[in-house]
Amino acid sequence: MASGGKGENILVSVRVRPRNEKEKARNDICDWECVNNTTIICNSNLPERSLFPSTYTFDKVFGFDSPTKQVYEDGAKEVALCVLNGINSSIFAYGQTSSGKTYTMCGITGFAMDDIFCYIEKHKEREFTLKFSAIEIYNEAVRDLLSEYNNQLRLLDDPERGTVVEKLIEETIRDRAHLQELLSVCETQRKIGETSLNETSSRSHQILRLTIESSGRDYSPENSSTLAASVCFVDLAGSERASQTLSAGTRLKEGCHINRSLLTLGTVIRKLSKGKNGHIPYRDSKLTRILQNSLGGNARTAIICTMSPARSHVEQSRNTLLFATCAK
Ligand code: ADP
Ligand code: MG
Repeated sequence: MASGGKGENILVSVRVRPRNEKEKARNDICDWECVNNTTIICNSNLPERSLFPSTYTFDKVFGFDSPTKQVYEDGAKEVALCVLNGINSSIFAYGQTSSGKTYTMCGITGFAMDDIFCYIEKHKEREFTLKFSAIEIYNEAVRDLLSEYNNQLRLLDDPERGTVVEKLIEETIRDRAHLQELLSVCETQRKIGETSLNETSSRSHQILRLTIESSGRDYSPENSSTLAASVCFVDLAGSERASQTLSAGTRLKEGCHINRSLLTLGTVIRKLSKGKNGHIPYRDSKLTRILQNSLGGNARTAIICTMSPARSHVEQSRNTLLFATCAK
């Protein structure tokens, strides 16, 4: 796979969820139509509509009748499985709160893990070591999702590995069931955070990282190479945080920090997708520092932008599509 070319290493797709019960109950009109598997159009005839494009084209567009399995197969699988060839990769869900990020990421993570274990099962000639870690970034503070005690973790610069999270738990995975157990721990930890701090999930970023090392069991030349890479599954904070200006006190602080991580990610991805060789501001936020080795260079990235089809969300949906357009 060529690297550094314009947008080649970034796969951008859009997923429109079905209307939820609330939206149906208030007769919130469906403004968007997926005309084929790469194009989505806005049918809104609101007065300001003429200011925005009505047709948007991406690598893939998934309508509300597309199951998560299909979103995985066409929008993430190839990127996720690069890790087995020693290539770093990352899969992002981007969109406003309640647009379907967590719903989509949970499914994709599960399907990717299934495929990875299936591959390992079939390749007995190699020996695999799998490690798993999970963090949440809230208000630019890094928390370990595998431990209730590991809050406020520091980032360190390791000369060999780049930015590392100090004291982060990295579990060596025994099998698929073990990994499933750890995913449940993360979910519980994330929920605990949510109840202690109102509505955290819409303001925090979750990063699940699976690192895979493999080496040949015998010494035949074609089988002796050692491969190591990681794949990150990233459930981002609600994108409304990137555009909203909050008023005062802690809410402002939260807003600023989430702005910083999401805005920096946007800048980094935009620069990478343009194939620019200049300065990429990875170091401007915790999120982009931690993900530096999973973005750019040879790394592959899949971004799934999720959105509601409802008219009441048309502004946020347009912002999401604008982000998606800039990532391409
Ligand atoms: P977010 O993480 O972006 O805030 P969620 O993933 O929590 O949003 O989704 C909000 C609600 O909508 C959840 O109840 C979820 O089950 C539902 N939902 C999201 N996407 C879909 C979809 N594609 N099909 C059916 N239900 C969905
Ligand atoms: Mg969520």
